[in-house]
Amino acid sequence: MEVLVVGAGVVGLAVARAAALAGHDVTVAEITGGIANGVSSRNSEVIHAGLYYPTDTLRAKLCVRGRRMLYEFCASHGVGHRKCGKLVVATNDAELAKVETIMAQAQRNGVEGVEMVGGNAARAMEAELSCIGALWSPETGIIDSHGVMLALWGELEDRGGMIAFETPVERLTYQAPHWQVQFGGRDPGVMPFDAVVNAAGLGAQALARRIENYPAGKVPRLVLGKGNYFGFAGKPAFSRLIYPTPIDGGLGVHVTLDLAGRMRFGPDVEWITEENYTVDPRRADSFYARIRTYWPGLPDGSLVPDYCGIRPKLSGQGEPQADFMIAGPPAHGMPRLVNLFGIESPGLTSSLALAEEVVAYLKG
Ligand SMILES: Cc1cc2nc3c(=O)[nH]c(=O)nc-3n(C[C@H](O)[C@H](O)[C@H](O)COP(=O)(O)OP(=O)(O)OC[C@H]3O[C@@H](n4cnc5c(N)ncnc54)[C@H](O)[C@@H]3O)c2cc1C
Repeated sequence: MEVLVVGAGVVGLAVARAAALAGHDVTVAEITGGIANGVSSRNSEVIHAGLYYPTDTLRAKLCVRGRRMLYEFCASHGVGHRKCGKLVVATNDAELAKVETIMAQAQRNGVEGVEMVGGNAARAMEAELSCIGALWSPETGIIDSHGVMLALWGELEDRGGMIAFETPVERLTYQAPHWQVQFGGRDPGVMPFDAVVNAAGLGAQALARRIENYPAGKVPRLVLGKGNYFGFAGKPAFSRLIYPTPIDGGLGVHVTLDLAGRMRFGPDVEWITEENYTVDPRRADSFYARIRTYWPGLPDGSLVPDYCGIRPKLSGQGEPQADFMIAGPPAHGMPRLVNLFGIESPGLTSSLALAEEVVAYLKG
């Protein structure tokens, strides 16, 4: 089949590569001039183990499977990564109860190697840490997310696929047996495809509304959950990822590390109504307070505004976290069309497993 994938983020690239490996002719249309210009370049670059997500959700299933696939992909394609492990720390009894609940959920999700450790054992691992107990997750790691996307792109091209940059998809109309796709940009025009995958990230809902006859009630609302990061101006204090107990809308302001060993903190959750990518330096105040609950040694004046990302969420403030939404033909009744909505964290970790699910819909 001639398959069009909209969006060259990690999910679109993973879908495109999987579709090409399955024997389809694949074109990716990307509105910007390069790969990874959306959510995929503005995250924590953590390979999540799959600890938190409720049983039987797509996030639980695809995170665990996607994580195993991603480690194998990194090893076989020379993509930089490090399985550094992570501690989810409790600083009081209420948090300890919460961490124990996460531990039970992680076991239900089939996450390997998780264990509860006491405060002393946690401090033996990370001397600067203050906590009364922690969950140790040895399968969590960090990854060069750009490297993954380059490798996916390379494999797509090896299989004859291509990316059309500066090519916005403006409208989709089904005229049996094809999807007629209206492109804008430098070379506007209409082209037929057999199948279309909408992996447009923050633009997925806007695109779905431009699919002729797509049921309006099947386009979920988009909630923007901005996550701000602050860099640490000093020698890194930790060699593993350190997470507090989760907060409403996110995993809490945690210690993230990159492959160069640099340490930063974030993301928090800022509910916004329009996309913007500035980090307000005043948010540092709340970061100091939150980080010092588990790292009392954080020096004054050491946090500097870094970058931010925006989570394409389907649930809002105070609501239970929504699952990923893979809207294939059974969900909306239109042939060979898959819309991906709400692919927030752990979308990077899940991308290869998500791609398998999507490609399974691309049938006659
Ligand atoms: C703050 C934050 C931290 C995160 N941390 C992690 C983490 O540590 N681990 C993890 O596993 N996940 C994490 N995630 C989630 C992960 O980053 C995302 O799930 C993933 O990057 C989504 O990829 P995507 O390809 O769906 O979207 P994107 O990368 O946004 O790609 C969509 C692409 O579609 C293009 N596009 C949009 N509309 C059109 C159109 N009409 N025509 C053509 N192109 C279009 C855009 O330009 C963009 O390039 C985090 C997310 C955030 C926001």
